[in-house]
Amino acid sequence: MALIVHKYGGTSMGSTERIRNVAKRVAKWARAGHQMVVVPSAMSGETNRLLGLAKELAPSSTTPELQRELDMIAATGEQVSVGLLAIALQGEGMPAVSYTGWQVPIDTDSAFTKARIQRIDDQRVRADLAAGKVVIITGFQGVDAERNITTLGRGGSDTSAVAVAAALKADECLIYTDVDGVYTTDPRIVEQARRLHTISFEEMLEMASLGSKVLQIRSVEFAGKYRVPLRVLSSFTPWDIPIEEEASSGTLITFEEDVKMEQAVVSGIAFNRDEAKISLLGVPDRPGIAFSILGPVAEANIDVDVIIQNVSHDGKTDFSFTVHRNDYARTIELLKSSVVPKTGAAEVSGDPKICKVSIVGIGMRSHVGVASRMFQALSDEGINIQMITTSEIKTSVVIDEKYMELAVRALHKAFDLDQPAAV
Ligand code: ASP
Ligand code: MG
Repeated sequence: MALIVHKYGGTSMGSTERIRNVAKRVAKWARAGHQMVVVPSAMSGETNRLLGLAKELAPSSTTPELQRELDMIAATGEQVSVGLLAIALQGEGMPAVSYTGWQVPIDTDSAFTKARIQRIDDQRVRADLAAGKVVIITGFQGVDAERNITTLGRGGSDTSAVAVAAALKADECLIYTDVDGVYTTDPRIVEQARRLHTISFEEMLEMASLGSKVLQIRSVEFAGKYRVPLRVLSSFTPWDIPIEEEASSGTLITFEEDVKMEQAVVSGIAFNRDEAKISLLGVPDRPGIAFSILGPVAEANIDVDVIIQNVSHDGKTDFSFTVHRNDYARTIELLKSSVVPKTGAAEVSGDPKICKVSIVGIGMRSHVGVASRMFQALSDEGINIQMITTSEIKTSVVIDEKYMELAVRALHKAFDLDQPAAV
């Protein structure tokens, strides 16, 4: 017998018919002897509908007072879905009880619309589980020290589920969603992309651009920190498939030591089209120069990703970095108005049409020559690399956006990800 947390997204909860299916699936797990906690999202479209109503009355204001009320409103979506699921489970003859975040309680800070979970009291839930009930807890929300209802940010139910699983020391947290797992890359770009059986927390975080379509990335950070094995699996399989088959489907996101070494050196190819490159040319090369360029950028709350400084000639150097594409114009403006005059740089230039392509894999720690294989594959395709950055388990290159798909395909092939893995 294990303690298992299931999380169901909005699509799975999209109609009473689908909720009945969720209930049948959960009841199957409970009848197999597991203690079950379920964390559902609001019915699909419901959170948007609720926030849309608020927007009709207050189109743009973002005062703390308004944000408090937005959370008050948005949190009700999940309150409806937990109640419906409890009724459906009871209809299956399975004792069940639903709670909102504040009833558990799930304590958070007071950052309305993006609150962080601080503590979960597990007493009430444990008592219900001991009494043989399925416990259903609203995703996406909690309560602050002043008893204001808070929400965790869009997509926050994933984080709720993981946090509940961590608090209860659950054996596994299963995230049922409309994709059937994490892939070696986006199957829309590479037809041969394969579902990974396992991936480490660290790799999953590095693959954020692929992973964020599957899970709220904050939930993966949380799962890694509190060591909760997470499984992403399809909610479209028939509810009555054998439980052993279901329990081993999808992708298990887990500890590095449990990721089978059957896996290739590189686990996946991630990419990101949201960045833009900015260069300062002819910057006097002296101590403090990086700070005098990036200090004002940070102060303006602009996130910087890849950073490169060249060797200098005649006391001058070139300095390049990438920012989110939405911040491109603002960053150029800022550099021109305040950084150039202060540093005496000769010129600001930039390119918003770049992309970042990364190879990710814990195998990179113990293998040499992985990055050079990457560079060779890109060179074979005639793709020019503009910037390179590496970490222990990832190498990223910045290239012209128009070569993105070509690069992803070439790398997927070069690292043998097109081949089915041995199981
Ligand atoms: N219902 C919330 C949203 O739509 C939370 C979630 O689904 O995870 O963002
Ligand atoms: Mg979601």
